Amino acid sequence: MESKTAWIEQEIAQLKAQGLFTQIRTLQSPQGAWLNVDGRRVLNLSSNNYLGLANDSRLIDAARQAMDRYGIGPAAVRSIAGTMELHVELERRLAAFKGVEAAITFQSGFNANLATLPALVGKGDVIFSDELNHASIIDGARLSRAEIVRYAHADPDDLRRKIASTPTSGRRLIVTDGVFSMDGDIAPLPELYAVAEEHNILLMVDDAHGEGVLGKGGRGIVDHFGLHGKVDIEVGTMSKAFGVVGGVVAGKQVIVDWLRQRGRPFLFSSAMTVPDVAACLAAVDVLEASTELVDRLWRNADFFKREMKSLGFNTGQTQTPIVPVMLGEAPLAQRFSRRLFEEGVFAMAIGYPTVPQGKARIRVMNSASHSQSDLEQALAAFEKVGKELGVLE
Ligand SMILES: *Cc1c(COP(=O)(O)O)cnc(C)c1O
Repeated sequence: MESKTAWIEQEIAQLKAQGLFTQIRTLQSPQGAWLNVDGRRVLNLSSNNYLGLANDSRLIDAARQAMDRYGIGPAAVRSIAGTMELHVELERRLAAFKGVEAAITFQSGFNANLATLPALVGKGDVIFSDELNHASIIDGARLSRAEIVRYAHADPDDLRRKIASTPTSGRRLIVTDGVFSMDGDIAPLPELYAVAEEHNILLMVDDAHGEGVLGKGGRGIVDHFGLHGKVDIEVGTMSKAFGVVGGVVAGKQVIVDWLRQRGRPFLFSSAMTVPDVAACLAAVDVLEASTELVDRLWRNADFFKREMKSLGFNTGQTQTPIVPVMLGEAPLAQRFSRRLFEEGVFAMAIGYPTVPQGKARIRVMNSASHSQSDLEQALAAFEKVGKELGVLE
């Protein structure tokens, strides 16, 4: 009889043959501009550590001090005995930072989506979802059991058509990523807001890659477009620019109150740990005190994008510090990434199913932690490998 797991071995062999098997590298150092990866010192272009906060001494000190006072673990779900004054303080500070009535934190951005969508819509309701939305939105939408109607990427006109052709007596919700993580483009939020208003539909944006990046001092996509008070639900993460881990939902008090009653990851999974919360509080302090890190991030990203284009690389539709270097087929992207690594540059290849077939790429994540000479070194490595592999003339 065939082994019960033989099919998995076959699937994995197939992934490897197609160049789609993800090799997970192990870090022996903190996150930063440079990493020790699999025993090598390499320039880091792969992390979501936009502001360099993942190894910032202010966050580390705050975490240490909080542990001395509160210990480590929350020891319970929030609604039973796991809410400490630190959690409440973080929510208050995040709401003020984002300019909204209230905020609620979750263990991760992924969990924030799993909590929010099923709490707001259910069977008989409809979710209008951008076709390139993040996996956690897709999973949250599926969990809700609402009908899911996908509209063409970043296309308010297609959204209008889909709304018109989907009559319902149930509730409706429009959901979009704020920044699309694989292409670095920004959702047309003012236009989506106009559609939501026309039809009186709830509007939700997942700003995981905009938190700490877009808007004044990193206040996010709603601030970027000046849409304060107009977007019903802002999901965010503290796992990217904030440099820690955790999710947040910000918006109207009534929605936050409801999520405390009905958000299942809030009710059935333990809270963020003490050092996480304290470090996130310190991150808010850093962002409120100065726009310096956010400004440096954008200066770095603008320089890198300009230089990559003038070398002749196709960097797609990016409007943010995320830079897709479009290469086409997955095996080429993997070979490119391996060669960059040998040249001392750690930049991940991304292929199907994370991006469509034939749209494989290297995704470069810019960071405020990079120096000018780091960026120049990265550009030199891209130029060398690009010529060697025939991507550049
Ligand atoms: C990264 C990401 C998440 C998940 O955030 P975590 O805090 O890492 O769980 C959710 N949504 C979007 C759009 C993301 O890019």
